[in-house]
Amino acid sequence: MKALKERILRDGRCFEGGILKVDNFINHQMDARLMMAMAEEFVCRFEGERIDKVITIEASGIAPAIMVGYRLGVPVVFAKKARPSTMQNMLTTEVFSFTKGRKYDICVSGEYLCEGERVLFIDDFLANGNAAKGIVDLVHKAGATLVGMGFLIEKAFQEGGALLRDAGIRTESLAVVESLDNGQIVLRD
Ligand code: 5GP
Repeated sequence: MKALKERILRDGRCFEGGILKVDNFINHQMDARLMMAMAEEFVCRFEGERIDKVITIEASGIAPAIMVGYRLGVPVVFAKKARPSTMQNMLTTEVFSFTKGRKYDICVSGEYLCEGERVLFIDDFLANGNAAKGIVDLVHKAGATLVGMGFLIEKAFQEGGALLRDAGIRTESLAVVESLDNGQIVLRD
């Protein structure tokens, strides 16, 4: 997506360990207009699919997910990283965090992720695919169906994209980073 790619090249910053910082428009300060344009792009790409619900993981997936949910007119549920003591019928799974370098649990109430529902996962980044694998597990545990996954930014030099596509999961990314070597952002055309 042209507008996103231009913004990444303008405002994105490379950090040690293959991390791209986009705090200026996605992860800290947010550009709501760009966020809505990205949601429109996902809606186009998944046109023709029945989608009952959008799912994401707190915190950075919530902004793009809520805009997709708004456009589709469907609820948005986010997996939580802390276990609320009051949650009923809790579904949980373990995820390894790429940015924090440790494992954590994510959970969602079975009240909001239900058998027979067709869900679309939206997140900010696809790196090694650990968050995505966690969602696959939660969707499976709920007896729901995963329609596909949409990421704002995929890092092609990490294994997540290949892993999801090899597993037959429809995976759409709006910008693909080929490399962040030597502090230089190289995007796929
Ligand atoms: P994965 O689970 O695919 O390995 O990593 C995806 C998650 O880690 C995303 O939800 C995102 O929050 C975070 N992440 C991974 N790589 C990056 C990155 O380069 N920059 C930022 N800002 N977050 C990242």
